Amino acid sequence: MWMMVLVFLSDIFFVLLTVPTIVMASEKEIKEIYENGMNILEDLTNNVQEIQEQLLEEILKRNAGTEYLSRFFPNGQADNQSFKTNVPIITYEDIQPYIDRIANGETSSILLAYRIIQFLLSTGTSGGQPKLIPMTAESFEKRMSDLLLSDLVTRKCFSGSDEGKSLYLYFIKPEMETPSGLKASFFTTFYFKTESFKNGLAKFCTSPIDTILCLDNKQSMFCQLLTGLLQRDEVVRFGSTFASVLARTIKFLEDYWRELCSNIRTGYLSDWIIDPGCKNAMSLILTRPNRELANSIQQICEDKSWEGIIVKLWPKIKYIHCIITGSMSQYVSLLEFYGGGIPLVSPIYNSSESSFGINLKPLSKPFDVSYTFLPNTAYFEFLPVSKDGEGKAQETWTDDEPVDLANVKLGRYYEVVVTTLAGLYRYTVGDVLKVTGFYNKSPQFQFVERRNVVLSIDVDKTTEEDLSKAIMKAKLILEPLGIMLTTYSSYADTSLTPGRYVLFWELKMKGSNDLPKLDAKIMEQCCCMVEESFDFTYKSHRKGGAISALEVRVVKHGTFDELMDFYVSKGVSVAQYKPPSCLKSEEAVMILNSGMVGKFFSPKTMF
Ligand code: AMP
Repeated sequence: MWMMVLVFLSDIFFVLLTVPTIVMASEKEIKEIYENGMNILEDLTNNVQEIQEQLLEEILKRNAGTEYLSRFFPNGQADNQSFKTNVPIITYEDIQPYIDRIANGETSSILLAYRIIQFLLSTGTSGGQPKLIPMTAESFEKRMSDLLLSDLVTRKCFSGSDEGKSLYLYFIKPEMETPSGLKASFFTTFYFKTESFKNGLAKFCTSPIDTILCLDNKQSMFCQLLTGLLQRDEVVRFGSTFASVLARTIKFLEDYWRELCSNIRTGYLSDWIIDPGCKNAMSLILTRPNRELANSIQQICEDKSWEGIIVKLWPKIKYIHCIITGSMSQYVSLLEFYGGGIPLVSPIYNSSESSFGINLKPLSKPFDVSYTFLPNTAYFEFLPVSKDGEGKAQETWTDDEPVDLANVKLGRYYEVVVTTLAGLYRYTVGDVLKVTGFYNKSPQFQFVERRNVVLSIDVDKTTEEDLSKAIMKAKLILEPLGIMLTTYSSYADTSLTPGRYVLFWELKMKGSNDLPKLDAKIMEQCCCMVEESFDFTYKSHRKGGAISALEVRVVKHGTFDELMDFYVSKGVSVAQYKPPSCLKSEEAVMILNSGMVGKFFSPKTMF
């Protein structure tokens, strides 16, 4: 039976490439495309163990002789069992010397048998530098099959979404070149430049490819929004890679809607758009004055409340498509507000190292999203992570052995370890996941947190998830007052003794960008609520005086955009930017401090 599945797998990329033809296909053909995709999904998820074992065998057959792997197989026997006994579980730092040697010109065969086509830049860093992750043509295709399968599942869920266009805000970053001549770029940059994107998904997008490929993110954003507005009646999907990009898009729209309207009204493109690709692409779309369209957009944007602005501007939108889990969950309420209740679809969980899983229930509420792992992209193992009575994932691994994909247990927390077709062997990605269920035999995981993202003053350890949960509770105090907490970050301020947690909150009134009147009593209540929500260790240290009262610094609207600009100027891609829930850089703290309009502390008497 599973041999049949493997035959299917070799065809998956070919079959899924037919997805872009959906627009031109007849109803019968569309049905067939969906059926093919769903059959593939059923086969993948029903044969998890077999596909995983076969994949590991294949990886070892090809790569056991490499300099990196051969030292773990002294007697030459490189089977799946000896792989698990002999090959160590590693982090990036362990494999970095090999990657650096390849980047400096040595043959990639020291690490893997197949040719590296380029490196991917991960947003994770090592020693301040972005991590370089090898990519082969084959590993790229595997990622694509997950992306396309996910797209198919989402479209199937929303009838009629095949008929229109996607307003997807996509951006690229300049590539780097390593001394060996191999390029290094973010995955999104690489993907948007491929023929499969240009001839495939890009055909659904309102943004002309040249506006996506423009290196100036501001010109690119302006032109992409302009084309999206010009085609507003055709747009059925709104999205981007991460929710943070959409938050930035809405802010840009607030700042530029008048100018966008004026371009539409006059038929002339603003003269600060000087990128030749953008100018050329826009000359084909912005061909005449359209006073009527400009007036309708102006009327919508002049409305005092921007609640539901997305659906008002693009009335046929069926869903908003972007990653909204993990550190992106802080944007859920913002997108719910501006989206006016359109479903938020968090489609996929992946990283530069590998693609992991897709969301098979696109209509799940953002905080209930789980990703079903697909067994054909990489060989997965899971390190059990200990948890306390409150179900909180701790930083430490247990002494338990790693388990295979097919053997994870419902309700348990794990850190994911990957062995890829592109030279990573038992590599810890740094993400903690929780098993929430199974689809056929394939486990489904909720993204819990990025390991090591913690606030800590003493022995207390506050994870990204703890912080997010505590802030969600405090938000409940603000919401009835019409105050929105649009984004947040934090840092452990140890410049004084004892140190304290400092939270930065960007607040605004619902329906306008006005800064709310900050009532000290209410803000203190919020500080208390956050502290109350932290764990026993935090509270006992706070009570014992080892931690000072928590501080909330309110920053003005737009301050977090400056933080993003700062990270983008350091080389982070806009498309892959994730606002840090915890700041490690002094410069970043200074940027947020410069937008501060008020600070509040937990009352001394609290504990
Ligand atoms: P990068 O390698 O720069 O693309 O970053 C990959 C990391 O982004 C992952 O290891 C996760 O920590 C995070 N990430 C990617 N997809 C998701 C998702 N769907 N939900 C939460 N976090 C995600």
